[in-house]
Amino acid sequence: MAVVTSPSGPAANARPFLHGSELAAIGRVLAAGQYGHGAETEAFEAELAAYLGVDDVVAVATGTAALHLALLVAGVGPGDDVVVPSLTFCASVQAILATGAHPRFADVDPDTLCATADHIEAALSPATRVVMPVLYGGRAVDLTTITARLADRDIAVVEDAAHAFGSQHRGHRVGATGALTCFSFDAIKALTCGDGGAIVPRTPTEAGWLRRARLLGIGSPRERRVATVSYAVHEPGFRYHLSTLHAAIGRVQLARFADIAARRKQLWHQYATALTDIPIAALVDLDVVNTVPFNCVVRVPAPARDAVHAQLHAAGIQAGVHYPPNHLQPAFTRWSRPLPNTEDIAGEILSLPFHPDLTDDDISHVTATLAAALENELAAPDGTTPVSAGERGGR
Ligand SMILES: *Cc1c(COP(=O)(O)O)cnc(C)c1O
Repeated sequence: MAVVTSPSGPAANARPFLHGSELAAIGRVLAAGQYGHGAETEAFEAELAAYLGVDDVVAVATGTAALHLALLVAGVGPGDDVVVPSLTFCASVQAILATGAHPRFADVDPDTLCATADHIEAALSPATRVVMPVLYGGRAVDLTTITARLADRDIAVVEDAAHAFGSQHRGHRVGATGALTCFSFDAIKALTCGDGGAIVPRTPTEAGWLRRARLLGIGSPRERRVATVSYAVHEPGFRYHLSTLHAAIGRVQLARFADIAARRKQLWHQYATALTDIPIAALVDLDVVNTVPFNCVVRVPAPARDAVHAQLHAAGIQAGVHYPPNHLQPAFTRWSRPLPNTEDIAGEILSLPFHPDLTDDDISHVTATLAAALENELAAPDGTTPVSAGERGGR
């Protein structure tokens, strides 16, 4: 059995899919001696743009940096509100706070774990400048419906597509549907640079601003290479560029992303098949025809969730919770408001180990352990009557 207790082992909740050619690519960059921002980064940007079918992509150091810069280029600043689902990684919220704006937390649909146009509309305030849909699990959201609700107002869309690289919506790749779209390439994302991120800008003007802002406001690197005597700082900026070492890893990953995506879809289907035997662990549907799945989430009855998590852990299986709701986080309670779906879901979700190195045996072990844990936790005191799926308050 390949499942081990080490958090970085096959039973880890997530881990990068690096297979050796990344190391050769890093060696190439080291041998060339070009660090920081450089040609490798620019080549990665061009390859990302070609893959997504867009004119331009700006690579940055992290997904959080991508969100921060995208919000700034959309004009967000102090006094503004940004609508964001509470059920997201805290990075979405920290990026909003970094601009001086405040979050307006939206609820989510219990089936997709994404905010719908209705949830977003319900969270709008007079000060809302941007809405930030989060593509939970990699599933695309319908931007047409969302933008239709914003039509008469000066509100932009910044997509948090950190989970959704490679996913599609109506035949277009996520990122090619007209919003400012942000990706993450951190260590647990489907495509990894080790750490990295990218923004799809809407216009060449935005692209130019983002390229300066990611490098301390300095004019383009090309401009710098020519003007050796000095350089010009055009505006406030950040140290947010993607290094050549990280870009080299990303280029290798992108070149075999078709395989990575196919493997993730295959694993998701294997889990789905195995989980049909455990109806009480309802699998969250990610529309895997169109989605490159980021995670594999089941909903189990809330009273049992934490104990089931502990039993999996005891068996060497790292399950996770994506995510503890942000409106209940100590740092963000100031912006809290009741979000009934999110609060219900938060007690039920469990992310199973999900990464391309999982074996068939790992999946059998995880699902068998999950079934046994549920049976232990949900059996009545006499040990005979497990709670049935039909008794789960409408789920
Ligand atoms: C990973 C992630 C981010 C942030 O990306 P980093 O590259 O880790 O900074 C933002 N939002 C969501 C939903 C994420 O999963």
